[in-house]
Amino acid sequence: MEKLIITVAPNGSVPTKQDTPHVPVVPDEVVEQGIKCWEAGASVLHYHARDAQQKPCLDYDFFAKVLEGLRKHTDLIVQISTGSRLEPDRDARIRAVDLKPDMMSLNVGSINFPRGPYINKPEDAEYWAGKMQEFGVKPEIECFDSSHIETGIRLWRMGLIDDPPLFDMVLGVKNALSFTPRNMINLIEMMPVGSLWNCIGIGKAQLPVSTLGIILGGHSRVGLEDNIYYSYKTLATNDQLVSRLVRLAGELQRPVATPAEARKILSIKNS
Ligand code: ZN
Repeated sequence: MEKLIITVAPNGSVPTKQDTPHVPVVPDEVVEQGIKCWEAGASVLHYHARDAQQKPCLDYDFFAKVLEGLRKHTDLIVQISTGSRLEPDRDARIRAVDLKPDMMSLNVGSINFPRGPYINKPEDAEYWAGKMQEFGVKPEIECFDSSHIETGIRLWRMGLIDDPPLFDMVLGVKNALSFTPRNMINLIEMMPVGSLWNCIGIGKAQLPVSTLGIILGGHSRVGLEDNIYYSYKTLATNDQLVSRLVRLAGELQRPVATPAEARKILSIKNS
């Protein structure tokens, strides 16, 4: 089985310091925690920008500072989020592509989140995929629903996504697809042969999704963006969640990829 690529998503757009003191909300904190997670065994870091009030934003300078810091201190594969629940401007969401991060998330379909709709129009998905390809950025196709796999396949067949396509299934979002082993296997079976896949479990789904991902040969993401708890009522730190995944992979005899190995598996062009 291929080595396991561990992604950490330290901040996301939702948790604040009031929810957990461990969430990084300024660039220096993201870099500092990124270094710890890299030391713990993560190969990829996915992050969002926040403003001075901790609210999610698309601040170009925030993205640039974190990218620069992580490249200076680590060999992590850096993935910038293009997700935005507030910003309808498709150009604003992809602006950081010219920083040439290694990867960006690619949202290909709309869905209901816990508190409202999350809109990603088909024509915008094509536009973002084209921009990522132009700048040599590897897209991670975010799949909150089985129809998002279908759209990802369509973009790949259009030649807007280079081989191998990387699908990322997100399970356990309220109002979207829940975690069951059957849901997970159905999504995997929809993917074209030769695809790579990553998995994310939200909240209490994080541990079972990660474990099943290791067993089924996928890759896995953990971090406070998706789950702020280590166990019932006990808050986690990002590096604790990465360390737990490394230990789980060890027990299940699945070797963990270094960032250099992950770069080859993912066919990353930028660095
Ligand atoms: Zn994210």
